[in-house]
Amino acid sequence: MNTVDLLNVIEVELCPECGSGKVDSAQGNSKCKSCSWRGTTSSLLIRKMSDNEAHSVVASVLHDYWQELQTSVPKIVGLALVRCGLCGMDDTEGLARLIKATVLATYKGTLEELDRVQDEIIKRRDTDTMRRGDGKPD
Ligand SMILES: [Zn+2]
Repeated sequence: MNTVDLLNVIEVELCPECGSGKVDSAQGNSKCKSCSWRGTTSSLLIRKMSDNEAHSVVASVLHDYWQELQTSVPKIVGLALVRCGLCGMDDTEGLARLIKATVLATYKGTLEELDRVQDEIIKRRDTDTMRRGDGKPD
């Protein structure tokens, strides 16, 4: 970890039951989307990460997501394309092209929406910080 990393430390909330970062918190209560854990927000594990570590985690999650899309989407989309008559089952080249376009569009759409969600979270956090006037994030 270098000096720049030390200046940009973020805190990540993790489920105390399974360690997942997929937790929702509202009004002091939290729940994990990866397991059935529910509890108080103060029970969550806090992991401090540098920007570089956070970027590494995000890159790993996005890689897993890309792999998952390439595994699960072709079956569903291929079936939908054939059933609706948009592409014949014998047209393997056409099917492959449409499936590839769908996987890519899904991935890009997810990233774009994640950017919008992140912007909303940052704006909300900035507004809350300004409202409290203490300059500290939650
Ligand atoms: Zn969990």
